[in-house]
Amino acid sequence: MSQVYNFNAGPAILPRPVLEHIQHELLDYEGRGLSIMEMSHRSKEFMALVAEAEALIKELLAVPSGYRVLFLQGGASTQFAMVPMNFLSSERTADYLVTGVWSEKALEGANLFGKTHIAASTKAEQYRRVPRLADVKLSDNPVYVHLTSNNTIYGTQWRTLPMFGDHPLAADMSSDILSRPFDVAPYGLIYAGAQKNLGPAGVTIVIIREEWLARVPKTVPSMLRYDIHAKNDSLYNTPPVFPIYVTCLVLRWLQELGGAEEIALRNETKAATIYHVIDESDGFYRGHAERDSRSLMNITFRLPTEEQEKTFASQAKAQGIVGLEGHRSVGGIRASTYNAMPLEGCAALAEYMREFQRTQG
Ligand SMILES: *Cc1c(COP(=O)(O)O)cnc(C)c1O
Repeated sequence: MSQVYNFNAGPAILPRPVLEHIQHELLDYEGRGLSIMEMSHRSKEFMALVAEAEALIKELLAVPSGYRVLFLQGGASTQFAMVPMNFLSSERTADYLVTGVWSEKALEGANLFGKTHIAASTKAEQYRRVPRLADVKLSDNPVYVHLTSNNTIYGTQWRTLPMFGDHPLAADMSSDILSRPFDVAPYGLIYAGAQKNLGPAGVTIVIIREEWLARVPKTVPSMLRYDIHAKNDSLYNTPPVFPIYVTCLVLRWLQELGGAEEIALRNETKAATIYHVIDESDGFYRGHAERDSRSLMNITFRLPTEEQEKTFASQAKAQGIVGLEGHRSVGGIRASTYNAMPLEGCAALAEYMREFQRTQG
């Protein structure tokens, strides 16, 4: 097959130059005669990669001093429980902004460990938008306010990330981390599974305020403690060596192309190319998200019938435009336009959409 544009939601597209780099050095990492997968995680080569990946994330997001970056396992789903297990207690309340299935799951995780308060939810509106700030009602003194920055399944995003004065934020940024610059200072903790926008499945990135590391209760087991992972520079146990290596290469790629500001501009242009076709289609394509909540990472829309949606996805596939089926819970079409998707891919999809409407509309 020649050119394929991969719109999968996750695991997702990786930058082509990164894949080529991996292929090139797979059998012989830096003249050692071994692949990176076969070396000790305590080798100087691998420890240098972990340090570089931490430094690159700090640089690319302009992370203020007083934060650590950790590389953990168990996906964002483990973080749903690990965040409250480390920071919430039965006497305290954590606030949750519920904007989709992933935030519902984060909330469920917290319910096991302490009190929770739904500060806002857009469930009644089929998660077509994120809450308006005026509709957010915080509890008196939340330990943190949790949000999902990008709702992968519904295709909505906090286009402006909210802030609530001195109340620290905790965020699941699995599907839009490093897609744009933002101010890290209001966050106590940020987590993201790598497999959407940063690398392969198998590693979870955590950015955590150092001050919080001292608060972990004694009852939390070692592998689930942020303080233990921080003290051991993410090498408390055998880390996911290969995913961390690939993530480091993706971070280098991002830095070389101009960092978070540059990728944000590209992501805006890419998404606009597709939203434009939706808006010009006279209702043939119906976007799920309300305009001011439209995600730049996951573009979700419906066609007049489910039959047409099936045809749309399968004919696209035959032309090398793959991964367009919507999430099993909502159906429809979803095009994921993560950092690694080139503008040409979005242009090819836009062209395909126009042609499909012309011939089948
Ligand atoms: C994919 C996704 C998850 C789940 O991630 P896992 O790594 O599979 O646990 C959680 N939150 C968001 C926003 C996601 O996109």
